[in-house]
Amino acid sequence: MEHGTRVLAQVRQAAALLEAASRSIPDANEKEAVELARAFARAEKLAMAATRRALLRAGDDGARHHGGERDMASLAASLCGTTVAKAGKGLRSARALETVTSGRAAFLDGSLSLDQAQVVADAAVAAPAATPELVAAAGQTSLSGLRARAAAAIAAKRGEEAVQDRERRLAARRFCHIQAAPGGGVRVEALLPTAEGAALLGAVAHATDVVWRSARQRGCNLSMDQARADALVALCRGGGTSEPAGGSPDLILTVDAAALVRGEVRDGEQCVIDGVGPVPVAHARSLLGEAFLTMCVTDGQDVRTLTSTNRVVPARVRKALMLRDPACVVPGCGQRMHLEIDHWRLDFGRGGLTAIDNLCRLCAPHHRLKTRTGWRLDGGPGRWRWLPPRRGSPAQAAPAGPLPAPAAAAAADSTAAGSTPVALGPAVSSSH
Ligand SMILES: [Zn+2]
Repeated sequence: MEHGTRVLAQVRQAAALLEAASRSIPDANEKEAVELARAFARAEKLAMAATRRALLRAGDDGARHHGGERDMASLAASLCGTTVAKAGKGLRSARALETVTSGRAAFLDGSLSLDQAQVVADAAVAAPAATPELVAAAGQTSLSGLRARAAAAIAAKRGEEAVQDRERRLAARRFCHIQAAPGGGVRVEALLPTAEGAALLGAVAHATDVVWRSARQRGCNLSMDQARADALVALCRGGGTSEPAGGSPDLILTVDAAALVRGEVRDGEQCVIDGVGPVPVAHARSLLGEAFLTMCVTDGQDVRTLTSTNRVVPARVRKALMLRDPACVVPGCGQRMHLEIDHWRLDFGRGGLTAIDNLCRLCAPHHRLKTRTGWRLDGGPGRWRWLPPRRGSPAQAAPAGPLPAPAAAAAADSTAAGSTPVALGPAVSSSH
């Protein structure tokens, strides 16, 4: 009891300190504010994990006798201001993570948000061996990237039959709601089986790219969401795809050669559409020849041996890069459209090779931060770190000219995902 009382006093004191710090935020300069946000985000994750652990320790009896609620989930909902269903899911994730060493450690030290914890916990039940990899991925990739990796890990564990089962269930549950929204306009919502969904995704992504680029050429700034909405309408009207896209965003299907021949995946093999999830091998075969899909058959070919001494990124290196970096490599970014290729380790102008080890894919804003303001990438694939400019670095001492205008950026990122190799302009590859 004495221990509990002391800890409680400490936690209350910490909360008071956080409150005082929060009040002083208006006095911080921009740099301090960023560091404060970082520190508060970690505190938020720590508090989230600790709240769930304390609730699990209290149990349903504790929640009834000392919390005056029906059970743990109800107490969690009332304390955290959420629904009982959501609170219950969070508690189940916390409980699942307690049973996996790496998951428990990451949850405890504030490395996982509640959303990330839920994804990792769900996968931990089906494929516990994948937990360390998923925990590491949580710090590197976006939430949707983490979900895709978890789905792939579960599929690899369960094998072909489970993936087919899931697809049958999804096919039975498929729907498309298009209805007048209460506040005006029309709302669209749909659920599709994975292969059909990927076909839709590929077609819409392609059309979105066309809409977005042509808007940009007209000097009109569309958000991706707006471009996607316009693209969907254009597709339904029977247009939108006739124009060739500057860089059609491919979906990448990765499948083991042996699985493709055999017709099913076996342990450890994969058949996955990147960013969408695992698909049955039979569906993968049916998707062959689709314009939007790049198929990557993994047969042990070493793409690292491919290098080039000019700026042109060879097509095979570019495909390998798309596969390795499906999204901007800056941890947590997750941007998948209109990525640019950067000579991240050593700039081409300083002798850097156009080799996969020296290349990575970045979104335009992160690419500009890197080339123009001295932000740096470190660590490499799977361990990327995004570091602030060095003190007194050339970019800091003498800031480069204005950031590229949208039109210039559009020309410069033509290597993004097009189907022909394009030379990288100097404006986009002067990495430090
Ligand atoms: Zn980015």
